[in-house]
Amino acid sequence: MSLIELTAAQAASAVNAGELDPRELFEEYATRAREHGLDGESRLNCFTWLAQAAPEQRPAAGGPLAGVPLAVKDLFCVEGVPSQAGSRILEGYRPPYTATAVARLEQAGASVLGKTNQDEFAMGSSNEHSGFGPVLNPWDRGRVPGGSSGGSAAAVAAGLAPWALGTDTGGSIRQPAGLCGIVGLKPTYGAVSRYGMIAFASSLDQAGPLTRNVSDAALLLRHMVGRDALDATSLEFPEAVELPSREDLRGLRLGVPADLEDTGVEAGVREAFERTLELARELGAEVRTNIELPHAPHALSAYYVIAPAEASSNLARYDGVRYGLRVEAPEDDPEGGLVGMYMHTRHDGFGAEVKRRIMLGTYALSAGYYDAYYGRAQKVRTRIAEDFARAFQAVDFVVTPTSAEVAFELGAKTAEPWSMYANDYFTVPMPLAGIPAISIPCGLSGAQQGLGPGGAGLPVGFQIAGPAFSENGLLAAAYALERAIGFDGSVAWV
Ligand code: GLN
Repeated sequence: MSLIELTAAQAASAVNAGELDPRELFEEYATRAREHGLDGESRLNCFTWLAQAAPEQRPAAGGPLAGVPLAVKDLFCVEGVPSQAGSRILEGYRPPYTATAVARLEQAGASVLGKTNQDEFAMGSSNEHSGFGPVLNPWDRGRVPGGSSGGSAAAVAAGLAPWALGTDTGGSIRQPAGLCGIVGLKPTYGAVSRYGMIAFASSLDQAGPLTRNVSDAALLLRHMVGRDALDATSLEFPEAVELPSREDLRGLRLGVPADLEDTGVEAGVREAFERTLELARELGAEVRTNIELPHAPHALSAYYVIAPAEASSNLARYDGVRYGLRVEAPEDDPEGGLVGMYMHTRHDGFGAEVKRRIMLGTYALSAGYYDAYYGRAQKVRTRIAEDFARAFQAVDFVVTPTSAEVAFELGAKTAEPWSMYANDYFTVPMPLAGIPAISIPCGLSGAQQGLGPGGAGLPVGFQIAGPAFSENGLLAAAYALERAIGFDGSVAWV
């Protein structure tokens, strides 16, 4: 059996049982990642940096994660390792410290395999906004892997990493997981420390796992969560994160939004979603299709005010003085000197999407407009959280497709920002409400059109959202469904 057939949890057990040398496992993935994961010649471009060798066996390497290699989204600071958040403005930045989420996983024995490509500062849904070029979807290299954690998703889907870390602000773990046929979990806001994550929108950003299956997601989450004195918004996880074992859904009530009909879900996605609901019923769940989330249609508008507003403030620190790129003003520039240096650094360092968000956010926060935009968006956000609270009185979890479409073609949405933003319809409400949600692959769509490897179709994601800190319940339900679905992601391994 080839080593990559082992899931991360299986590999960790094999190492801990003395049956597998963790350096051999690391070498296997590092070789595959070097060959297929870097830039050029239609390679996937999912890694922006790869470790040369497994880190020296530290005492912790015998921990529960047993030296299993981990791909880490570029925006996590890792001491001495390029950490650029997909942006040219941070080119060459090697932080002097490591993000808490990564440090905890390393303490549990994980080995950083590499940094993964992403949309610049996590702004995007396709990975086409990276300063380091787009990532290709291993299911079809003419299509996007989703974003912004597209590098992490593509690396896991292609079998170039056993698992990966991502972040989700408005869908950036779940949507790429959905489009690449893997599992992605956005935890409850505060469950995982944000310390050392290069910030996009601080009230929404949350780190989480992208994995081949639900058990691996639970295992990775278990070693990430918990209060951190270095992040005042982090919280103690109220219980141990369990490895799921549930085989049925008896007694569980799943709610489908009543207006799903009107949300433009494409036919193949709809079919895979309905099939999964049928499986849920067979497993004993009660499915209610009349869940009212009356403010959900306004989530995109609120998100695209709040996230850019917070981003415009967070990104003010990139001034060419402290980190990364510095571009001096040319001699003949009337705005020379320090201000000229700020302007040229930000002009050359930021990509178009980041500039668009900074302008939108700065406008929304400007005196005289603050109440009309930011203040109002925050009110909508409260309503969305109240909608979910009401829904969770009637059902245990709310379920939707993760995205209305399968992976789209490279370039299909770059000319029209709103069509790119609209892709986040099903994923933005949860971070606005601070609640957890998981995406699991639930089948393939598009075989009729000959899409995907050998015309088999492209993956569809099934999203399950629950109340704050319901991760154990979400993982258990996802695990039972995953077994019933029987999705085979190895089709996309390179
Ligand atoms: N696609 C959304 C955006 O562009 C979400 C990104 C994210 O979750 N980081 O903002």
